[in-house]
Amino acid sequence: MGKHYCAEIISVGTELLLGSTINTDAADVSRYLSELGINVYYHTVVGDNPERLAAAVLLARGRADIIITTGGLGPTCDDLTKQTLASSFGRRLIFHEELAESMRRYFREVIGAGEMTENNLQQAFLPEGCEIFHNEWGTAPGCAFEEGGVHVLMLPGPPRECNAMFKSCALPYLRRLSDETIFSHTLHIVGVGESAIEAKLRELMNSLSNPTLAPYAKEGEVMLRVTAKAGSVAEAEELLEPVTRQVREILGDVVYGMDVPSLEKAVFDLLLEKKMTLCTAESCTGGLIAKRMTDISGASAVFLGGAVTYSNESKTAILGVPRQLIEEKGAVSEEVAREMAIGARRVFGAELALSTTGLAGPEGDGRNPVGTVFVALATEDGVLVRRLQRAVGRGRVRLLAANAALDMARRFAQIIDKR
Ligand code: ATP
Repeated sequence: MGKHYCAEIISVGTELLLGSTINTDAADVSRYLSELGINVYYHTVVGDNPERLAAAVLLARGRADIIITTGGLGPTCDDLTKQTLASSFGRRLIFHEELAESMRRYFREVIGAGEMTENNLQQAFLPEGCEIFHNEWGTAPGCAFEEGGVHVLMLPGPPRECNAMFKSCALPYLRRLSDETIFSHTLHIVGVGESAIEAKLRELMNSLSNPTLAPYAKEGEVMLRVTAKAGSVAEAEELLEPVTRQVREILGDVVYGMDVPSLEKAVFDLLLEKKMTLCTAESCTGGLIAKRMTDISGASAVFLGGAVTYSNESKTAILGVPRQLIEEKGAVSEEVAREMAIGARRVFGAELALSTTGLAGPEGDGRNPVGTVFVALATEDGVLVRRLQRAVGRGRVRLLAANAALDMARRFAQIIDKR
């Protein structure tokens, strides 16, 4: 077993203390570190103030062996991270002409801003003997050095730059610290809450030490990360395989994929594989399912179209839902959801049609409790309708309804063999 590193993240920026910017950099970096098996013990936020930053660094170097700073690397006078860290660790700042040149090029060619102002040259100064993290996504370079057993890594503040630099520069640097490989898979689950998943897997989770198994809740979904430490990726895979298999056996088909970016992408891939097409008729989700499907590049191979039919009249005019049915049963009803899906299938000519009609709230309709949603799937074999009741809050009702609809398409496509 290699050394167990512990890290502290110091995020620099007065805007973080004022609450005008949320510290997403620390969250992102923490996530990456946990994937590497590096424990994060502290998150510190400091304003653009050199004395307080120096005090935070002093504290951090006494309790962490990796310090990662975010922000304060830019050209303005409040960007003091490099100067403060260098002086805290007794290093001089050295000017790098090649960095100055690449900044000039960035100004001319990438942002087309003409000549660079002199204050930008401050960014070409870096602590003596450091490893330079080149910034291909902005101007401020980052860097890393080791001093007295403490590794210091500095990343820029803008989240896009911070994330990109972590992946391409900090990650290889940190990987070199250990001869072990940390490798993980993420299983994605929809339709079951985190606590129910945990209850089902508690025994397995407690019995494991390598790999480890940890659930994470994401809005409307649960992810399970299985992480192994081993001498190589192949060895890690060998450790992971039986555990991911066991988890799938225990949880069954609520697991919609492994290492997939989203539920809609899992649906898209599956429909593409089965050569099936999809369309939507949405009321309470207001186009959310169509939006999520069309977020995927190449969506047109699967997704033919969707209608947002929010009023009763549009449900009748566009989808052909009988006016009398809406009057009798109410717009939020199993029958109307069914007719909406059938109508969409006819209008768009897709094999599968999803529909949603429900009460996202806060107002009710006098018939159903707020949060009631009917979700339907129409296929050539008939129509399936599900009634949902769990969610509270307009955004959440809509999200869970879209998830439930997409999941119905996934489950249907999974069992049907079109090839
Ligand atoms: P540059 O000056 O080149 O933009 P920098 O490293 O100096 O980079 P800052 O000036 O500290 O970065 O921050 C730039 C912007 O990035 C901030 O206005 C803020 O919007 C965002 N930002 C900074 N730190 C964080 C953070 N920890 N989480 C999320 N966003 C951040």
